[in-house]
Amino acid sequence: MLIVQKFGGSSVADAAKLRRVAGIIAEAKKAGNDVIVVLSAQGDTTDDLIAKAHEISPEPNRRELDMLMVTGEQISISLCAMALQEMGIPAISLLGWQVRLRTNSEYGSARIRSLDTERIQQELDQGKVVLVAGFQGVNRRGDMTTLGRGGSDTTAVAIAAKMHADLCQIYTDVEGVYTADPRIIPNAKKLDEITYAEMLELASMGAQVLHNRSVELAKRYGVELEVLSSYVRKPGTKVKEVVKTMEETKISGIAKDDKIARLALVGLKDEPGIAFRIFRVLAKEKINVDLILQSIGRDNTKDISFTLAREDLNRAKAALEKAQDAIGYENLTVNDQVSKLSVVGAGMINKSGIAVMLFEALAAAQVNIHMISTSEIKISVLIDSSKAEAAMRAVHRKFFEE
Ligand code: ASP
Ligand code: MG
Repeated sequence: MLIVQKFGGSSVADAAKLRRVAGIIAEAKKAGNDVIVVLSAQGDTTDDLIAKAHEISPEPNRRELDMLMVTGEQISISLCAMALQEMGIPAISLLGWQVRLRTNSEYGSARIRSLDTERIQQELDQGKVVLVAGFQGVNRRGDMTTLGRGGSDTTAVAIAAKMHADLCQIYTDVEGVYTADPRIIPNAKKLDEITYAEMLELASMGAQVLHNRSVELAKRYGVELEVLSSYVRKPGTKVKEVVKTMEETKISGIAKDDKIARLALVGLKDEPGIAFRIFRVLAKEKINVDLILQSIGRDNTKDISFTLAREDLNRAKAALEKAQDAIGYENLTVNDQVSKLSVVGAGMINKSGIAVMLFEALAAAQVNIHMISTSEIKISVLIDSSKAEAAMRAVHRKFFEE
């Protein structure tokens, strides 16, 4: 079998942890597999490098920042190669440019364009474990780029896709994907399997397990992922297209997003073109909106409210205030003490009962709902942040503990 294994920064944070990781790699290799390993930078290295850059410049040049950040992964792959060699396992470390991992030139958030498998294959053919630096590539000019924070997952999936690996394992410090964040819900259960679509919903809502782009890539190329622990040796969570339990399970997980805000425009005219005028202003600023709610018109006026990322709030507010006359509204109000709670499940298609269960749990917990939105596999509600954790506990109890 050809296996790609990726280890996150906390799994390779120091020498002892690196040796443990080398042990896991050695095991896969000794079982007769070809093994490609992708590593992140050790521990907080990337954060530390960014801090160093900011000591010099408040807004570091983006090319140079990438040049700096890529050094983190170079350290972990070379050390890990040494650890494997100490164990008598032939190994070689390779940087992004050595495997010709080409990207566009968006420093700090580059997109992978192509990957040359020749060098990796040569080294595998010589019986070596191949360690590739995660998170990095080179642009057309050969300059170093990085894929965005947490990008090593995406490196691993890209290599697995291109090499037609049988398995892509993402080793991390949790045992898999849970029904909810175990730090908030101690009773959260580890899922055996989850679909790509569900994982994408959970990942984008801040379930910090997988880089979103890695899941998109895995879905597109049909790369089956397994998220598992580098400390506890047992099966983790498989991420794939269709899961066995899809028909039976109501929902797979609950997530909340606290980094959002609500903006409302009150006293709009009730006539065609209003929504267009509002969202055109935001689109020009490249601001994404999520939930949108429009009230029923009364006395010829209506209100429109929507949620957006909290970090975009001030920009959105300024742009809309500037356009007040062009849009035509009376008041603009904001609330940045809101959270979005979502239940996600591929099995919820045609299951309106899920909504009832969700609302029942929230009612019993005395949580007021400001907005509701649904998709084929998700129901989201906007609630006060102060109630978000209690709401999450109540909803988790309803779906998973009763
Ligand atoms: N070291 C990089 C980061 O911390 C990439 C990664 O961890 O995947 O974002
Ligand atoms: Mg990291």
